[in-house]
Formats: sequence, C-alpha cells, structure tokens
Amino acid sequence: MKELVILSGKGGTGKTSLTAAFAGLAPSLMLCDADVDAADLHLIMAPDIRQTHDFVGGNEAVINQDLCTACGTCKELCRFEAVIENDAGFFVDAIACEGCGVCVDLCPENAIEFPQKTCGQWFVSHTRFGPMIHARLGIAEENSGRLVALVREEARRRAREQHIDIILTDGPPGIGCPVIASMGQASAVLIVAEPTVSGIHDMKRVAELAAHFNIPAMVCINMASQAVRDIWRAVMDHPAMKLERLM
Ligand code: SF4
Ligand code: SF4
Repeated sequence: MKELVILSGKGGTGKTSLTAAFAGLAPSLMLCDADVDAADLHLIMAPDIRQTHDFVGGNEAVINQDLCTACGTCKELCRFEAVIENDAGFFVDAIACEGCGVCVDLCPENAIEFPQKTCGQWFVSHTRFGPMIHARLGIAEENSGRLVALVREEARRRAREQHIDIILTDGPPGIGCPVIASMGQASAVLIVAEPTVSGIHDMKRVAELAAHFNIPAMVCINMASQAVRDIWRAVMDHPAMKLERLM
C-alpha cells in the first residue's frame, strides 16, 4: 500500500484542489482528509456520509460547587488562566482549559472533576472516487494531531480490508504537530508551494521536516508566474531536499 500525503508549508496554496484533481487519476483509491482543523476536501468531493463517530480528545476540569471552599489554589496554579473567579465562586473556562489536570490533582478538597470531552467527529464516507475518511474538529478544540493520526489509521485499516493500494491524503498546512502526525509512514509527500517569499520559506520548512523523517518529498509550484524560476533555483539549491519536478 502506498500513501501520498499532500502538504503545504502555508495555507491557501491549492493543496486541497490538487488532492481532488489527483483523486480522479487513480482507478481505485482511499481518500483521507487529514486537515482536520480546517477540513474542506468534502466541499469538492460531496461525500455521502455512511458512519459518524465521536472523537474523544482529552479531559476538561469542572469545579463541583458543592465541594469547593473557594480557597483559590486552582486559580493560582493554572498557568493557562482558565480558572475564573466571580461573585458566585470559582469556575473553569472550558475554552481556555488545556486539560493538564494540575488543578484536579492539587485541589485540597478534591472538588474538581475531570470528565473526558468530545472534541469533534470523524466520518466514513463514500465519494465518486472511492471511500473517504475525514473529520471535523470542534470549535476551539485541541488535540488535532491525535485526530489526524486517528483518521490516517482508519484510512489505512479500511484500505487494507478493501484491498485498496493507494491512499491519497490531504494534509494540514504548516509544520506543527498535525503535519508531523500526517506524514508518519507516508510513502511520499508532495509539497504544494506558491511562488512568493513566504511560500518559499514555508516550503523549505516542510521539506526539511520530510527530510528529517526520511520521507521522499516532491514539490508542485502552484499559481506560478515569472517568479517561478527564482523559486525553482531556491528549491534546487536546498541541500535537505531530494526533489522531482512535476511541472
Ligand atoms: S482549589 Fe478546589 S477548593 Fe480551592 S477554589 Fe479551586 S476548586 Fe475550590
Ligand atoms: S486542567 Fe489545567 S488548564 Fe484546565 S483549569 Fe485545571 S490547571 Fe487549568
């Protein structure tokens, strides 16, 4: 089984459009949208959603007002400033809470509960090009790297079951945790770059990341103009990359 992950150092380079264009080239493939923070492959693919699953991505502190003695320890300890004090007592701001658990462990009254929270959903769908695994992270939710790993694992598992040899993955932009989660075990990555100063800069960063993990990297320069020659020279001069020209 081979997996091509389409990445871009920055957003807005046309990564998802290229993924959709490639989808029509293979006779049989599994589609995977790993850009869970801003999933949009479904806008082009118009998938028929067959299964919906919750993504449980962490925990959230909740103060039990019946047990809280308003000592203020949790507010002092929370480095994310997620504990709010008002006339009614102490409360946790669910959006600011990072789920680190410090307040839960150190509250002298054991007054803080720590339930798991549902951070989003992931889907098994059918498209005119084949099955598709995709997801939607909830507003202001964290742990997108874990959700990326989950959708890619599901794509691989279902591709094996259905004897599909190719997975085409629309990855996230940048070089952070979701990108790292999207490229592990990939056969190759295709970096979609645009011919701008920031485009070159961000393309190099993601190419260095691919080189670090020994994953073959290719570059597609999208939205090219006269400036493409300068871009190409910068790409070829870069020692960290082993590149093939696609256009
Ligand atoms: S540490 Fe516990 S008892 Fe103290 S204010 Fe926070 S929740 Fe209440
Ligand atoms: S779990 Fe961590 S981030 Fe959330 S309120 Fe407690 S100390 Fe703050």
